[in-house]
Amino acid sequence: MAGLERKKCEACGTWCANDAAKCWNCGHVFGEGVSEEEKENVAKGQILAPEATEENALENNIVATILKALAYVVYAVAFLAGILLGKDLKGDPSFILMLVYWIAGLFAGTMLLGFSEVIRLLHEINRKTK
Ligand SMILES: [Zn+2]
Repeated sequence: MAGLERKKCEACGTWCANDAAKCWNCGHVFGEGVSEEEKENVAKGQILAPEATEENALENNIVATILKALAYVVYAVAFLAGILLGKDLKGDPSFILMLVYWIAGLFAGTMLLGFSEVIRLLHEINRKTK
């Protein structure tokens, strides 16, 4: 994944994705010099409204992204486990047992998704109050 490398914004010092055209925090365009206006804004703590796209939030929050990926892995594993292990004592496929695996996986995966969302939101809030 290319987005894991980081570069530092010259204007506000925020770490951004290496391939970002603009700083997600202050909107500074990379490769251009830092304008007087930007220096002033940063000094006053009045950074420009960040373009808080979904992509930026994910880009800057690896933990949330990993949790989300894990949730999908849990879904996939539970689905397969249901098919492979959902058998009764005689070894015949049992739809009820399959359902047990699937429901368990659905719960676990959705919990992880929920956590990842909570972390993402906290991260967002934390970023805005800085
Ligand atoms: Zn910046």
